[in-house]
Amino acid sequence: MIKQLLLAPGPTPVPARVRAAMAKPVIHHRTPQFGEIFERVRGGLKELFATENDVLVLSSSGTGAMEASVVNCFAPGDEVLVVNGGKFGERWLKLADMYSLKPIELKVEWGAAVRVEQVEQAIAEHPDLRGILIQGSETSTTTCHPVEEIARLTRDRDILLAVDGITAVGVYELPMDEWGVDILVTGSQKAMMMPPGLAAIALSDRAWERSKSVCQPRFYFDLEKERAGQAKNSTAYTPAISLIYALDESLAMMREEGFPELYARHDRCARATRAGCEALGLRLLSPDSPSPAATGVFVPDGVDGKKLHGYLRDQMGVAFAGGQDQLKGKILRIAHIGYIDAFDTITAIAALEMALLHFGHDVQLGRGVGAAQEILMAALPSR
Ligand SMILES: *Cc1c(COP(=O)(O)O)cnc(C)c1O
Repeated sequence: MIKQLLLAPGPTPVPARVRAAMAKPVIHHRTPQFGEIFERVRGGLKELFATENDVLVLSSSGTGAMEASVVNCFAPGDEVLVVNGGKFGERWLKLADMYSLKPIELKVEWGAAVRVEQVEQAIAEHPDLRGILIQGSETSTTTCHPVEEIARLTRDRDILLAVDGITAVGVYELPMDEWGVDILVTGSQKAMMMPPGLAAIALSDRAWERSKSVCQPRFYFDLEKERAGQAKNSTAYTPAISLIYALDESLAMMREEGFPELYARHDRCARATRAGCEALGLRLLSPDSPSPAATGVFVPDGVDGKKLHGYLRDQMGVAFAGGQDQLKGKILRIAHIGYIDAFDTITAIAALEMALLHFGHDVQLGRGVGAAQEILMAALPSR
């Protein structure tokens, strides 16, 4: 028997509690019974996003919420700065192109974060800038961008800051209102510990204001219409009812853990993973601004990355994510996002050590594990 451990930065493992919640009978969504659940969910999402504004639930994967951001808040011809530091930055760019915005691409080397001065300079060079599109955590390169600092530049100007928080919300503290983020989106299959299929999006007051004057074709993702429905604990169209049950349960789990501990756990597992990899002599993809959602690590020279990844998944039952595009076969991405704890992290490093040794790499077994344990030890409750 090989137990399967999913350690990719989405989809992520779904706890039994959340899976069981989805087995409940489907009820009608235009009922007080559904309204009661949805009201609780809406409250939980506001806590998670740290916003006073409505957080809308959409029946789509995360990309749907990215598209909703663009069609509701930016008009054709609007100049937007797109921070493109990986696959998901590229997705903002494609969306901006598709809806005829005027994207200005700020290309960032994969594995690096954008520098605040680069954004500052772009703002200075483009006085008509209407928005900035960025990732809180660029999952393809396991890198965090400095959202808080960038929000300081946008919040006093007429520039909307749209943050793809799909591997940031619920991973590290990203208080939307306090920082002055205008649009924040997430998806269910990452930190929310749920199956794919739901997205959530919140807009600041000024983003709602802007949306009134933006004429872009939009129907399913018309957020004003959605907001009106959700204010009455209902949705514009039939919601993914079973996934709403799951969301209710996952929010309860997050609340039970407590948000500070939730963020601390992600940080701890991320530090342990990095320490474990470095103790094995592996090079990190994003050493300077690493994401607490996942750790990208280069496969050492002489080891076939594709085979290593497949062996770990199929022969050892540990499914990491590989690299995308130019990083295909070159990196592994070890997740610590969502329902992943200290001992999943230790398993990840142990499996990596064993697989590397199997492929002929010079590894001292236990070395990476020991380094990870050192970090995880510090968080054990006192006797
Ligand atoms: C997963 C992910 C997405 C895409 O989400 P889908 O749910 O596949 O549409 C977008 N941005 C980031 C940063 C992600 O990690």
